Amino acid sequence: MTAQPAPRIATVRVPAKVNLALRVGAPDPGSGYHPLATVFHAVDLTDEVTVRRARRFSLEVTGRFTEGVPADETNLAWQAVVLLRHHYRQTCGVRTPLPVAITLEKNIPVAGGMAGGSADAAGALLAANEVWGNELTIEDLRDIAAELGADVPFALLGGNALGLGRGDELSTVLARGQLHWVFCVSPEGLSTPEVYRAFDRLAGWDQGPTMDTIEAWETPPEPPEDLLQALRSGDAVEVGQHLENDLQEAAVELQPGLRETLAAGADVGALTGIVSGSGPTIALLASSHDHALDISVGMAALRPEVEVFVASGPAPGARVVSTRS
Ligand code: ATP
Repeated sequence: MTAQPAPRIATVRVPAKVNLALRVGAPDPGSGYHPLATVFHAVDLTDEVTVRRARRFSLEVTGRFTEGVPADETNLAWQAVVLLRHHYRQTCGVRTPLPVAITLEKNIPVAGGMAGGSADAAGALLAANEVWGNELTIEDLRDIAAELGADVPFALLGGNALGLGRGDELSTVLARGQLHWVFCVSPEGLSTPEVYRAFDRLAGWDQGPTMDTIEAWETPPEPPEDLLQALRSGDAVEVGQHLENDLQEAAVELQPGLRETLAAGADVGALTGIVSGSGPTIALLASSHDHALDISVGMAALRPEVEVFVASGPAPGARVVSTRS
């Protein structure tokens, strides 16, 4: 049997995420990383990453959200391809994987707490691996993804997953049915490091460990068992009762308008509202797709400055949707 030649172009679709629970512990005094216990949920709000063989490396950004996305080597998708190329050289002995041109079709809000940059990095890994002949396995790609950032491995995996450690120690979560959402995107983004700094200040972690706090400091957060149980039941009302986000207070402090968006969500009948990840996107939970549509109409009237999207999950992780030779 002759091996198929590698395609010249590959397009990968990759989902945004919302954290159904985000428990954050005290920062490690050495690395500054916060230990997490989080439940990731991938939703069908997706970016598309196209990688094609080219004479030199380049990156183009298209789609609904282009503002604030760097079109150079600082883009996470570009960094992903550079790191993958390094692994091709080291692991596969391929001396010069050809340069590639990357196109991002961005539908995931930028700096919105939905891990759009991480999604693009995961998409770029998968797409570049295709055009370079699939020399690395999905397990290899997962390891490389973890080097790129804590949210990148989940963007490859998708579905529902418990994330421990920095959020990159993943295990799949069993869940029944679909959850329906309305995502409310603020006109201004939030910087994730800034939200963590505000969180540390509000929690008193910025003072460093003391005799009184040393035990809490050294205890990593526990997995959210009640939420995991609710996900197994498949009951959206019950899931809604157990959504939680330790970063919410910090995000709301930095963007006080989020309080009004959350209140408007309650007014228009959402089951629950929560800040997505480090914010500022607000995720409103609905009981059905039609309910989500009703909520989105209500939100557009009450908060016209906020963009709304209806989406549902769990959605699959990064996957190749087309290739061309
Ligand atoms: P997270 O939820 O993982 O904290 P986020 O969704 O809040 O992330 P991103 O959209 O990933 O935030 O972008 C954060 C910043 O990263 C942007 O402001 C931008 O400067 C930079 N960036 C680099 N690459 C990308 C990319 N491919 N897409 C979006 N932003 C990118």
